[in-house]
Amino acid sequence: MNKRDHVMNAILVGIGLGALVDPSGGESTAQAMLMIGVPVLLGALVPDIDTVMGDHRKTFHNLPVLVGFVAFPHAFGNLQYVWIGIVTHYVLDVAGNTRGIAVFYPLLNREYGLPIGVPANSHAADVVTLLITGAELALAMAILYGLENGWFQTIPTAIDAVRPVLGL
Ligand SMILES: [Zn+2]
Repeated sequence: MNKRDHVMNAILVGIGLGALVDPSGGESTAQAMLMIGVPVLLGALVPDIDTVMGDHRKTFHNLPVLVGFVAFPHAFGNLQYVWIGIVTHYVLDVAGNTRGIAVFYPLLNREYGLPIGVPANSHAADVVTLLITGAELALAMAILYGLENGWFQTIPTAIDAVRPVLGL
């Protein structure tokens, strides 16, 4: 997708996540939107650095880059939420655009995309971006609701159950 659609997606995701995390509607909601929205927007700009450095849709459009940004806050205590912008950028390129991304780069050069999506310069690109943004926020809402209601409490138990099998 083009930069404009990535920026629009990131701003709306940031605002939406802020509202989901703090739905009170007051000043603290605006603060949450800024706190999450700004790093998400910065993250969404990172992958397309490979339009000027490296190979586009490869160098900064892959899983190692995402893992790096997920791990960074744990290692250094900053850059929280930037990874969300990376994820939404990947999703928009994979689901919204005809061309995919090389998720397994540098291992594999192949670009993977879903058989849906429109060309980045298409008139429908904005509409597709808004639809994907809505789906992302619906998913975020479900995850946050699930976290509050203990849906995922069985996951650590499942990992514990698998551990002896793998000899860990
Ligand atoms: Zn991209």
